[in-house]
Amino acid sequence: MGRWIEAADGVLVRRYQELDLSVGLVVGGESCLVVDTGGDAGQGAELAAAVREVTPLPWQVVLTHSHFDHSFGTEAFAPCAVWAHRRCHADLVATGEQQREKWARSYRERGEGEVGDRVAAVRLVLPDHLVDDGAELDLGGRRVHLRHFGPAHSDHDLVVHVPDAGAVFAGDLVEHGAPPQFGDAFPQSWPAALDGILALDAPIVLPGHGDPVGRDFVRDQRAELVLVAELCREVAAGSLSVEQAVPRSPYPEEFTVAALAR
Ligand SMILES: [Zn+2]
Repeated sequence: MGRWIEAADGVLVRRYQELDLSVGLVVGGESCLVVDTGGDAGQGAELAAAVREVTPLPWQVVLTHSHFDHSFGTEAFAPCAVWAHRRCHADLVATGEQQREKWARSYRERGEGEVGDRVAAVRLVLPDHLVDDGAELDLGGRRVHLRHFGPAHSDHDLVVHVPDAGAVFAGDLVEHGAPPQFGDAFPQSWPAALDGILALDAPIVLPGHGDPVGRDFVRDQRAELVLVAELCREVAAGSLSVEQAVPRSPYPEEFTVAALAR
C-alpha cells in the first residue's frame, strides 16, 4: 500500500515501502497525468484505485523510463495514452521479457514469492505516444512538459515538469535515500542531465525513489556524479584501477557497475 504526499497544488507523490518507490499524479482541469505505474499489475491496480480517490478525471500515463518498477503496472490504466521516450518503447520491447524473468526470480529467491508471481504475470503495455526531445501536454488549464536531457540513468530518461507548480518529477535521474543506480547508466553525461533539471528552476524535485527534495539536493548529487564521471574516465584511461577508484567514489558499492557502464 502506498500513501499520497501533496507536493504542490494538484501535484501528488505516492510513496511505497517496496523499493522506496515514488510515483506521481498531476491533476489538471480536464484530465490527469500518472507518472510511472509501479512494478506489477497489483501495484498498478492499487495506484489506479488511489488515483480514483483523488480525481474522477480521465487519465494519461507517462513512463520516466523502462525499468520494471516504473513501467510494469501500466495495464491497470489501459486503454489510455501512454507517453515515454522513443527509446523507452524500444527498450521495453528488447528487455521487457528479460526484466520480467529476472525480477520474478529475484523476488522468489528472496522468499517474496507472491510479489514474484505478480511480476511474472505482468502483461506489458507499451507506450504509444513517443517523445524524442520533449512534448507538451495540456491537462486543461495546466500545461505539463516532458523533457529528455540526454543519456544518464538510462538512455531514455524523461522528466515531467509542471511549471505552474514549480515541480519536476525526475525519475531515477535523482535518487533520495539510496545511491543512484548505474546498471544501464551513462555516468559521463549524467551530470549534464541534472543541469537540465536545475535549469528548469523548479524548487520541488520529486525523485523516482525516496522523498521530495529541493534544488540543493540535486546540486549535491550532481557534484557526486561529476566525481563518479571523473573516476570512470581515469579508469577507462588506465590511470586508475577500479580497486583504487572504489574508495574514492561517493558511492563505493555502486562504483564497479558505474565504471563498467558506458
Ligand atoms: Zn531506474
